[in-house]
Amino acid sequence: MNLQDMTRSLPQTERLYFKDSYLTKFSAKILRVEREGKNKAYIVLDATAFHPKSGGQPTDTGTLRGQDCSLKVTKSMGFRDVVIHYGMIEGEVDGGTVTGEVYWEPRYLYMRRHTGGHLLDHCLASLLEGPIETTDSWLGGSRGRSEGERDHPTRRKSDS
Ligand SMILES: [Zn+2]
Repeated sequence: MNLQDMTRSLPQTERLYFKDSYLTKFSAKILRVEREGKNKAYIVLDATAFHPKSGGQPTDTGTLRGQDCSLKVTKSMGFRDVVIHYGMIEGEVDGGTVTGEVYWEPRYLYMRRHTGGHLLDHCLASLLEGPIETTDSWLGGSRGRSEGERDHPTRRKSDS
């Protein structure tokens, strides 16, 4: 699927999590639907609480339910200013509105790990007495991980 074509002439998606990062349920208007094969689809809404994979955060997952359809969201992607929901679809979509629900357990874990990563960066920068650059972070596995620019932090002289 070409995301550029998919998002052509669509307005920017209102990202509801910027106003309330604890929001798990919302309703939104369907702006575009592209089916892929028999039971997969891409859906773009006017607003969403799904955080796309970006900024070191894994994709949110969850469901979108319309009057005669439901999408099990396995991936949400950001392209330019538009958020695209992708997953398994059941039923027929003929526009209208959907109720979205973000699976809270993984999302809350990513939120806490992401915040923890920033805290760790700050603490390392203080301990090493200089700016550090986070070059990578992975929050999707069983353990969070964050890598600083210095591979082997050394103790300050006053600590030894
Ligand atoms: Zn951040």
